[in-house]
Amino acid sequence: MVRFMNVNKSYGKLNVIEQLNFDVAEGEMVSIIGPSGSGKTTVLRTLMTLETINDGVIYVEGKPLTHMAKGGALVPADERYLRRMRTSIGMCFQSFNLFPHMTALQNCMEGPVQVLGLSKKEARERSEELLHMVGMIDKRDQHPSRLSGGQQQRVAIARALAMRPKVMLFDEVTSALDPEVIGEVTNVIRKLVTEHNLTMLMVTHQMGFARDISDRVCFFFGGKIEEQGTPSELFGNPQRERTKQFLSAVK
Ligand code: ADP
Repeated sequence: MVRFMNVNKSYGKLNVIEQLNFDVAEGEMVSIIGPSGSGKTTVLRTLMTLETINDGVIYVEGKPLTHMAKGGALVPADERYLRRMRTSIGMCFQSFNLFPHMTALQNCMEGPVQVLGLSKKEARERSEELLHMVGMIDKRDQHPSRLSGGQQQRVAIARALAMRPKVMLFDEVTSALDPEVIGEVTNVIRKLVTEHNLTMLMVTHQMGFARDISDRVCFFFGGKIEEQGTPSELFGNPQRERTKQFLSAVK
């Protein structure tokens, strides 16, 4: 579903992602863990086309995300192509980024109506179903300022899903939340894994959660995958010294 092929990304002289080769299969839940500054968020941002890459190609469902085929060659993608590809990827951030002047329902309906061209009726049905799924249907007419952080994050997840993305990205979605509401958000993500079989890529500091729900965990260090494996391999029997050090520090 997702493939990074020899991807490099730098900011000035700082190489943030180095020669990254990385695949996520359809229906797979992959967690990215690692120290601060190791490039985890940048990986998600390049996939969301919020950052341009310096080298390599990113593919989504076999189609190049950053390049398009033209006369048998790959050329850098234009804005129109990027806009279309972007709709196949949903992202939830640490800061929920809901539209403050819209209700929960309007937040969910906006993309499907404006970007996908759905009728208001279709968008409303789809959005209500998703707000129901995340346990927020009773709050559909509330504005974000009237919702708790956990509730806003659940609306943000419903809003991203309303676009029917092929891949969902979660960037530290529980980091800004009070401890007592983290569970309501992780439970929604757990539900997506067990009941919906979505392809997901998650950056998280919550090792227990990553261990619980991931098919695969990747440990990033210095813009590279230092080690990856199933949760029991990576957490239970890490091979690399850096992985061992990181895991013992975050315990
Ligand atoms: P992580 O998510 O693992 O904490 P990031 O992907 O956010 O790491 O950042 C990786 C490195 O890139 C860090 O050293 C960070 O300071 C740097 N960085 C991130 N965004 C920018 C930017 N817009 N301009 C310059 N440097 C950046």
